Amino acid sequence: MSQLVKPHGKDQVLKPLLLEGEELADAKKKATTLKKIPITSRETGDAIMMGIGGFTPLDGFMDHDDWKGCVKDFQMADGTFWPIPVTLSATKADADSINFGEEIALVDDESGEIMGIMTVDEKYGIDKELECKEVFKTTDEDHPGVQKVMAQKEINLAGPIKVLSELDFPTAFEGIYQRPADARAIFEERGWNTVAALQLRNPMHNSHAYLAKVAIEVTDGVYVHQLLGALKPGDIPAHTRVKCIDALVQNYFRPERVVQGGYPLDMRYAGPREALLHALFRQNYGCSHLIVGRDHAGVGDYYGPFDAHRIFDEIPAGSLMTQALKMDWTFFCYACGEMASMKTCPHTEKAVLDEDGNYVSGDRLLLSGTMLRKMLSENKAVPAEFSKPEVVVLLREFYSSLEERVEVKLHGAATGDAAK
Ligand SMILES: [Zn+2]
Repeated sequence: MSQLVKPHGKDQVLKPLLLEGEELADAKKKATTLKKIPITSRETGDAIMMGIGGFTPLDGFMDHDDWKGCVKDFQMADGTFWPIPVTLSATKADADSINFGEEIALVDDESGEIMGIMTVDEKYGIDKELECKEVFKTTDEDHPGVQKVMAQKEINLAGPIKVLSELDFPTAFEGIYQRPADARAIFEERGWNTVAALQLRNPMHNSHAYLAKVAIEVTDGVYVHQLLGALKPGDIPAHTRVKCIDALVQNYFRPERVVQGGYPLDMRYAGPREALLHALFRQNYGCSHLIVGRDHAGVGDYYGPFDAHRIFDEIPAGSLMTQALKMDWTFFCYACGEMASMKTCPHTEKAVLDEDGNYVSGDRLLLSGTMLRKMLSENKAVPAEFSKPEVVVLLREFYSSLEERVEVKLHGAATGDAAK
């Protein structure tokens, strides 16, 4: 009998809204006859998460009371804990043309795919600035999450949805894209009761591997859960990241302690609030813990390094079953002679390397993403203390294939990405 954490919400059962078989075929046919409303990439990601049960127990896009409760008090009108609004917006003209109780087809703006059918039972306006101030702690228009909220159309539409598509995630990321029920089945087959999720959107270097190993020491296994979605130019695509993790797991882990998976959601960059959302949907995936590092889901300097740790202690007890495994910044320290963190290592000097990536002096080995890209694309040696050779080989292969095609673009992206 599985002892995995139960799904979120009062009923404690997964609530996937995706239709299947004949029901799906009929709904697809019907959807072509309905009024079509375009939806953004964020709304599409949210719809897929509701479709696969990742956003259990939501049954559709939020109404005004749920939106307000969520923004102000982290909970929906019925008391269910929820840290970030999940809403859908339409132009005033579109909203005016829809009757209450009418079914509409939600169409992904980028692919043209019909994502779902929604029964509209409420239309409402929101105070966008209030949402930004509460959720993102800023109304600065340079913040990517604020930009998306401020760009929402005038009227929010609320009501239950039926989901008709997962886009091409199941085929494009075969073997890595998982629904919560899939992940739970894998964990149960392995006899796991406690699982730590490691959220990843960059390649896995030694610092992430160290986090994973610390988590395995205190749980039954780690779920390396990757973001599969839109990337910035120059980012490492998911398929390459998967190969790198495989190489690490095969050579440096007990493979029976690691499961890889991917999920379709866009980043909102809401820092602490998003850490809570990340924990919430990991609960649905069956994870008892989420590894929360420094500035989890942050961007720029909008959040303090440990805000995302602290917020787990500030929400009412019992809000979430999934707990934060709070970790500090990790790195290799030459003076310690091992992997360490800001919490354990007493040395403070940054390590200095020569042109070829060899150790010269100092303690802590800290390489920014930009420095690493430069070393990889210029064929300089990357210290084994930073990343295992099996991983470096794969990343080099990726950069050499990329450089032939978009060299200028890569360097433009690299210089603009110093923070991560
Ligand atoms: Zn040290």
